[in-house]
Amino acid sequence: MGHMDNWLLYLLIVAAIGIGWWLRGRERVKQPETVGPNYYNGLNFLLNEEPDRAVSAFIEELDVNQDTLETHLALGGLLRRRGEIEKAVIVHENILSHARLEKSAMLNVQLELARDYLLAGLLDRAEELSITLSREEGDTRQAARRVTLEVYEVEKEWEQAIEVAQLLAVGMDSEKYEKAISHYYCEIASDCLAKKDFECGREAIREAIGHNSHNARASLILGQLDLAEGFFEEAISALMRIKDQEPVYVHESLEALTEAFGKSDLPEQQLRDYLEACLELTPSISIVLSLATSMRDEIGDESMSKYIANHLKHNPTIRGLTQLIDLHVDNTSGVAKQNLTILRSFAEALVADKPAYRCQGCGFEGKKLFWHCPSCRDWATIKPIFGLEGE
Ligand SMILES: [Zn+2]
Repeated sequence: MGHMDNWLLYLLIVAAIGIGWWLRGRERVKQPETVGPNYYNGLNFLLNEEPDRAVSAFIEELDVNQDTLETHLALGGLLRRRGEIEKAVIVHENILSHARLEKSAMLNVQLELARDYLLAGLLDRAEELSITLSREEGDTRQAARRVTLEVYEVEKEWEQAIEVAQLLAVGMDSEKYEKAISHYYCEIASDCLAKKDFECGREAIREAIGHNSHNARASLILGQLDLAEGFFEEAISALMRIKDQEPVYVHESLEALTEAFGKSDLPEQQLRDYLEACLELTPSISIVLSLATSMRDEIGDESMSKYIANHLKHNPTIRGLTQLIDLHVDNTSGVAKQNLTILRSFAEALVADKPAYRCQGCGFEGKKLFWHCPSCRDWATIKPIFGLEGE
């Protein structure tokens, strides 16, 4: 069969399922139906055609009872995945208002509704319902707490998030929530640092390290705190911990690190040794450029550009190329200088729209570093992108 025939067949099947469902709906189905994935394809098809009518027909025609509950829940879930949260709310509220279900089934539907509220941005309702549900026993309790936690994350209510996460950080989930708690404290510390409330910042960082001693972000903020208070050597030792914690984040610390070295009495060679050790772990062009800059006065522009060029041979990046051009522009004149300037703007245009960071969990990409992934809502899964168009 040709491609076109396959396509037609698919369309017919979907239509047949859709019509079948529609007719069954008209006949007021009382008997439970066993439904497979094709059924939901049919449902999807109907929703694509006339979502409002499909949803209201479904609600009117198919009574809610223990046997049809799964189908109603499937429709609610389907609507939510399609981003039609308001309709998902209608479906879930309909189940709750009509059904005489077993208690566990009712709790399950209420949880779904709390998740709808969360996604719809109805945070007060999501918080209230999930807190009520977290008073229940068993699986419901922890599932409800996860919804409450997300509400506090969205609201940036870190103190409250810490309280809930501590209740979730048990058994298998312990590591995951300890990591999150560490980041909640980092959020608090960052806010304190911004307000120059160093004491509150230090207290929060102590907690952040206590909950996850490998959190590179805690070292970064501690270094920034020390730097802001004029403790340069302490700042350096805090920032240098990042190499052993998560070397991909060294790049985020370079600004504070070079400033701290510039203001401390420590020999510049110590910075270079550290950066070279970092380069062995992660081929970051930012580290190469920091190293090259710190050597500039000693070795001169020519040796510096040779050093960068040598690194680019092994790990070519466009950002490295533009830096190399910058070094040469100053030493050339006339047509050569014009050409280099044109080349530089080409190179810049190549990376202008390119993301610099990517989430290793869900693939979300962006130009700046988010510690909390806006898409999958995991912590510290967003890392710099390496390669030609990245670091
Ligand atoms: Zn993500």
